[in-house]
Amino acid sequence: MRVLITGCAGFIGSHLCDKFLAEGFEVIGMDNFITGSPDNIAHLLGHPRFKFIHYNVVNYIYVEGPLDIILHFACPASPVDYLNHPIHTMKVDSLGTLNTLGLAKLKSARYVFASSSEVYGDPLVHPQREDYWGNVNPVGIRSVYAEAKRFSEALCMAYHREHGVDVRILRIFNTYGERMRIGDGRVVPTFLYKALRGEPIPVHGGGTQTRSFCYIEDMVEGIFRASIKDGIEGEVINLGSPEEISILDLARLVVELTNSNSPIQILDGREDDPKRRCPDITKAKNLLGWEPKTTLRDGLKKTIEWLKSYLRR
Ligand code: UDP
Repeated sequence: MRVLITGCAGFIGSHLCDKFLAEGFEVIGMDNFITGSPDNIAHLLGHPRFKFIHYNVVNYIYVEGPLDIILHFACPASPVDYLNHPIHTMKVDSLGTLNTLGLAKLKSARYVFASSSEVYGDPLVHPQREDYWGNVNPVGIRSVYAEAKRFSEALCMAYHREHGVDVRILRIFNTYGERMRIGDGRVVPTFLYKALRGEPIPVHGGGTQTRSFCYIEDMVEGIFRASIKDGIEGEVINLGSPEEISILDLARLVVELTNSNSPIQILDGREDDPKRRCPDITKAKNLLGWEPKTTLRDGLKKTIEWLKSYLRR
């Protein structure tokens, strides 16, 4: 079996390459390193079943030979990254989705789309189920990401309905773990880095807003199951942790687990920052037999060990 993974040098993409290679697949990885890092795939170069293509998915894509599964995981994904690259973000999840869906049609490949909890915007329904349509500000600063993901979902369904492409839409909630980029501005790497250095932990907007954090190993298992499962064409599935925590409590937990002296610093809130976010994962449990196994405490401990050794390099 041969898979194409776009965004292969990103946080989730690189772990997906590891997983598919470990499961015996041949993997073609594609990335342009705008937010991904060559470090994340350095260990794979030279692997007999891995091939890397340095390419921007916004341009017409052609890949030689058969493809069984295409996973479109390219896209700047942290708020700081997509606000730094707003137009590129929109292109990757419009033109990039179009190009990869076209390739899936041509190769009769299954198509797995990395959508996001961001399609729910600042949700008015809690926890979020897949049949909730969301509450997105179409002209707010985060819309470049949220609306591109929503457009991509619509495009996936159009290819499914018009051309019978076997698509699966995965709405990925906050994920953390080894290989997150320290400077990507996301809350987990930022808090861990600051705590390890004894610097103030920057909590935006009072910290009463909540998120639910899924450890990378669990997330990759969920994505893998959704990719290989037969009979779920056209399904939309939430993947994430149902363990909800406020950002202030996350800051306190990080301080505790790192034995840090860092003070907590309350800063202004971010524009359009969702107030609550937590997935209903009933569908993933029923269709995939999947739910996260790692508690936030255990996953953070593993991530702290990785970050310490990364910073010593
Ligand atoms: N956040 C924070 N300090 C930071 C980074 C993020 O308080 O240094 C908050 C942010 O306002 C949001 C939550 O943490 O409420 C998660 O932010 P992140 O950027 O990780 O991702 P999001 O879930 O917003 O896409």
